[in-house]
Amino acid sequence: MSEIFGFPADREASSAAKVRALEALLIEKGILGSDSVDTVLRHFETVAGPFNGARIVARAWIDPAYKERLIKDTPAAIAELDLPVGMTGAEGEHMAAVANSADVHNLIICTLCSCYPWPVLGLPPYWYKDPVFRARGVREPRAVLREFGVTVPESKAVKVWDSSAQIRWFVVPERPANTEGMSEEALAALVTPESMMGVALVAAPHA
Ligand code: FE
Repeated sequence: MSEIFGFPADREASSAAKVRALEALLIEKGILGSDSVDTVLRHFETVAGPFNGARIVARAWIDPAYKERLIKDTPAAIAELDLPVGMTGAEGEHMAAVANSADVHNLIICTLCSCYPWPVLGLPPYWYKDPVFRARGVREPRAVLREFGVTVPESKAVKVWDSSAQIRWFVVPERPANTEGMSEEALAALVTPESMMGVALVAAPHA
């Protein structure tokens, strides 16, 4: 995405180097324990991440009644599934799902900063916080989506959802073709974080 929003190519690497230097300094000063950062990283690798969102989407695809409950009362529907603890914790308050359909494509954004449903999607990617993405995403969502590789036909509405501390949105993408008979687990493996942000579609599996 860096080429779209004009980040230097080494931005992630240089941020990571700064974080490592800061971590080392904080450990040296006794402010952080030596395993504090690893504990937080492990949380986002095993407890809160897009693997949860993918399971929610897969269930919604195979169970229309579940999908209906998910849209109507997202936290209650999420609580039905056996997901890791903490689904209502930090940045998980007031999550709400919106479903793509033949008539509507949804895009999530945070125009103010970078509000994002951590428990189901993990931490937001770099570009989600970019002021250009946040401004253009609401002004010209179709153009921005095209740059991401998603061309939404004029016959289909585009809805942009502005996440905030009050509501954190995520998208239930459309189930791709040729997935009849796939297991819930196999379906979940198709679902990407980008598809749950609305900047990508879920690709049909190779035949
Ligand atoms: Fe925000």
